[in-house]
Amino acid sequence: MLDRRRFMQSLLALVPLSSLTTAATMATLPAATAMAANSGGGVQAPGFFRLPVGDVAVFALFDAHGKLDPAILHGADRKDIDKLLEDAGIAAGQPATSNVNCFLLDAGTRRVLMDTGAGAFFGARGGHLPGNLRAAGHAPERIDHVLLSHLHPDHALGLVDATGVPVFPTASVHVSAPELDYWTSDATLAAAPEGRKAGLLALRKALAPYKDSGRLHAFAPGAAPLTHLPLVTSVDLPGHTPGHCGFRVTSGGKALLFWADIIHSPPVQFARPEVSIDFDVDQKKAVETRLRLLPKVAAEDIWVAGSHLPFPGLGRVRARDQGKGGYAWLPVNYADAL
Ligand SMILES: [Zn+2]
Repeated sequence: MLDRRRFMQSLLALVPLSSLTTAATMATLPAATAMAANSGGGVQAPGFFRLPVGDVAVFALFDAHGKLDPAILHGADRKDIDKLLEDAGIAAGQPATSNVNCFLLDAGTRRVLMDTGAGAFFGARGGHLPGNLRAAGHAPERIDHVLLSHLHPDHALGLVDATGVPVFPTASVHVSAPELDYWTSDATLAAAPEGRKAGLLALRKALAPYKDSGRLHAFAPGAAPLTHLPLVTSVDLPGHTPGHCGFRVTSGGKALLFWADIIHSPPVQFARPEVSIDFDVDQKKAVETRLRLLPKVAAEDIWVAGSHLPFPGLGRVRARDQGKGGYAWLPVNYADAL
């Protein structure tokens, strides 16, 4: 059972990093470059990355950044977790940087967005998806379909802007039936503590314009959500949320799996897949799903795209000692996309 109070505390633990990032960057740059960065207001390069997959392309798109409190990780000895984090340069008890990534499938005649980011939910440190989509050459107005892995705020609230206007005015929106039922049911709203009701109502508002215009569709986990685009299938990955799904793109003998929230803490959960996080609605099932999935993607050696892996969140998984030593994350090399 989800501890809702801790869940909200965890969300609130995602704090802005902008001042820290600017200071760290300035300290390592030559003076002239530092001045140029300063005169540019410290604006980062556009957050998109293109990866060919067979005959199509998948774009990673940066939406938000925040920090993850290690206290919300469970399922291994605390000293063990602290050691893994320290080995990754994260001092004991200190929060780790975390990203929110979205992904676009450019299938030539069709543009399919996978997840929409946080929208206005994270304030100034989120909601960068529309700008990065444009920078990548794909206007939000020209997105044909939106596939949602699940309905947590950082994945679904980017459907609308701060005023409730749809960001993807011509797109159909697809989410798994159990996911849609769980988060939009009156029973879930009635059972939610006061502090969580606002988030659930924000989700209803984000879905409403798509639902009201007949563009919100539910699919069965494991099915192809877009019947005219069979190169995309959904993958049932329950636990993090009841209807949490990944999306697999297969083209020209290559494959990519967008696995959404299978990993939240890369330094800890690749090494110890049995570690869960407070964000998981069903932590036991989330662990089972991760333990089932990691050996499969490692054996297949396919591309993986993750929502909360360091941007661009694209890479491959390798089993260490056939999985007995955990797994390694092999991030994509920038040049590989050229
Ligand atoms: Zn997430």
